[in-house]
This record gives sequence, structure tokens and C-alpha cells, in this order.
Amino acid sequence: MDKEKIEQAVRLFLEGIGEDPNREGLLGTPDRVARMCSEIYGGLGQDAGQYLHTTFEAKNNELILEIDLYSVCEHHLLPFYGKAHIAYIPDGRVAGLSKLARTIEVFAKRPQIQEQLTAQTADALMEHLKPKGVMVVIEAEHMCMTMRGVRKPGTKTLTYVCRGVFENNDELINRVLMMVR
Ligand code: ZN
Repeated sequence: MDKEKIEQAVRLFLEGIGEDPNREGLLGTPDRVARMCSEIYGGLGQDAGQYLHTTFEAKNNELILEIDLYSVCEHHLLPFYGKAHIAYIPDGRVAGLSKLARTIEVFAKRPQIQEQLTAQTADALMEHLKPKGVMVVIEAEHMCMTMRGVRKPGTKTLTYVCRGVFENNDELINRVLMMVR
């Protein structure tokens, strides 16, 4: 990541909105934002497969996992955050639970749209774990909708993506949705 470039951009941005980037309170801001970027956009260039290489054998259990989710909307560069749920039915092999959380972070830590984040996570799990099926549900609040007053605070957006045996299986889909809501 080009820290120097981010700092220049933040200074320009502050000027652009009519601020004085040299006033005391803002002097350290470009540096702070640049360092924060390496964390909140750290998923850029990362491959989700790196977390899913190690798998272990498991009997036919279904699995559902809830993960706290933080990402940034690529249209406004404002946060969206909430819960992600990963349900999957393994075909003999499973990944460690923390690895599933790391997988969604690879995609969350970049400029994103919620629909795409949901699909990318499901597709990565299908590709690397080759389970019988995956369903990913994300429920998130978008600051670009609540902070700008377009909608009431607390409005949540729900997206879900089904792959494998979950596809077109309303009974299975409804079971997961009932569990997560
Ligand atoms: Zn937005």
C-alpha cells in the first residue's frame, strides 16, 4: 500500500471540503488514515485460499457460524457492518472455524458492496472446501444509508447467496434464515 499517496490524498481531501489540513487537530490525520487503511483495506491482494488449505475430516455434520462483520461501501467509502452467517454442509472435509472468519475478512477488508461480498465468500468456500453446499447470509447497516438521512438508523440490508445443495431448496434456505434472524 502506498502510504505516502494516501497521506497526500487525505490532505487534498481536507482542503477540498474547506478544511485547513495544517490546523493542529488535523496535522496527524493523514498519517492516521494511512495507517488505518492498511488494516481496513488489508484484504486487497489477499487470496482467500490461503486460509482454506488446511482441512480436516468430519462426518456429515451441518455447520452454521456467526461472524461480526465490518466492511466499507465502495460507492461512498463509508462503513457497513453487521453479522455474517456461513452455513455449509461439508462433503467429508471441513476447515477450522477461525479460518472461515478469516476468509470473509479477506473480502470484507476492501472497498465492497454487500451483494458481492456475500457471493465472493460463498464462491471461495465452494472452490476451496468443495462442500455439498454453502449458504452465506449477511445482515448489515450501511452508514451511507443511515448517516445521510435517506433512511432511518437501524435499517438493515439482508443479502444471501446459495450454492450447491442450497440452491432452489426452499426448505433448507428457510431453515437457515429462521436460525439466523
Ligand atoms: Zn454506500
